[in-house]
Amino acid sequence: MDFLGDDDVLIPLHAPELGRDEWAAVGDAVQEGHLVGNGVIGRRVQSHMESVLPAKHAVLTTSCTHAMELAMLAAGLGPGDEVICPSFTFPSTANAIALRGAVPVFADVTPDTLTLDPADVERRVTPRTRAIMPVHYAGIVDQVDALRAIADRRRLLIVEDAAQAWGSRWRGRSAGVLGDVGCFSFHATKNVTCGEGGAFVTDDERLFRAAEIIAEKGTNRSAFLRGEVDRYTWVALGSSYVLSDVLSALLFVQMRRSDEINDARRHKAERYMEALRPLQDSGLARLPRVPAECHWNAHGFFLVLADAAQRDHVVDELRAAGVGAAMHFVPLHTSPYWTARAEAVRLPVTEHAAAGLIRLPLFVSLSEADQDRVIDAVLRIVRDVARPSNPLLAGTAAGA
Ligand SMILES: *Cc1c(COP(=O)(O)O)cnc(C)c1O
Repeated sequence: MDFLGDDDVLIPLHAPELGRDEWAAVGDAVQEGHLVGNGVIGRRVQSHMESVLPAKHAVLTTSCTHAMELAMLAAGLGPGDEVICPSFTFPSTANAIALRGAVPVFADVTPDTLTLDPADVERRVTPRTRAIMPVHYAGIVDQVDALRAIADRRRLLIVEDAAQAWGSRWRGRSAGVLGDVGCFSFHATKNVTCGEGGAFVTDDERLFRAAEIIAEKGTNRSAFLRGEVDRYTWVALGSSYVLSDVLSALLFVQMRRSDEINDARRHKAERYMEALRPLQDSGLARLPRVPAECHWNAHGFFLVLADAAQRDHVVDELRAAGVGAAMHFVPLHTSPYWTARAEAVRLPVTEHAAAGLIRLPLFVSLSEADQDRVIDAVLRIVRDVARPSNPLLAGTAAGA
């Protein structure tokens, strides 16, 4: 999973890109008493998001997890409904569905982008399907038009888990506004961060009106803050998903730096792509593919080896060499929570990719020298583990 706990390695997997402007913004917010959420700073960030995406409405939340819960609540999902999502994702995607009593239906992903495979989504649509939740893994956006066509034909909502995709685009349009609702994360491991935070964005008036009430404890406080009503009160069921203005102040600085942050990350991701290409050419590892239609925020860089034995060996050796490499998601359909409750499903691409996947360090302050150390270590260790004489390879694809 996604931890910052890299104390035992020299080169961590992630590092937030924070500077004096972020410290100053937080200090100023505290000093000026901007503590509660949906205040002047939070509303400034929401307007900024609405204009850069662009989207008609943005609601800041305490996390992407909460933004997705908000989306499922606003859409009125409940028992008897099904939502199709990848199994290759963070548990939050499926939790948002299951918390409403609806059923997450896991679909497989495409091997080179690890994003939802529209053909498999189509196979899993039933009369109970209400929505599709694509996840833009590593910030890569793929096959949006095919998913949109399925959703339009079947009248399904598309709720994007754009947790990793702030700044990515598909045919020039921002991730997060490619469907009906988009959910972002500003967790410390993401490109743009305020520690813990998220956003719900939509062009749909009805979903927005519902969401802003649910996020504000079931009250019409947001309408009150706009001067539309002269007092606020309980108008619907709700919860509290409001981001403090202290964190919004930090987020505002990060948002204005997001092109600079994403450009620097993309430059490093392209260096990995170039230097590690020989591993792909010789069939030892698969690298991410960024579709021509996708402008990529370079959230993550990964390679996929033949199987979990090779993956574990390479991760251990990289960590011994001081490189904070890591596996990623345990597919949700193979997780203890799910296998105890649901019939077994097979998702061959997901299972294979999750078993072989290794993430490499990628962050703005990763120096060229440190990145070269990562590259040299990866080339050496992957070539060594994949030697035909290596017992780890007996019976695997790369050893055949
Ligand atoms: C990080 C992440 C989340 C959770 O985001 P939070 O803001 O920590 O709740 C959800 N989905 C995906 C794909 C993620 O990468």
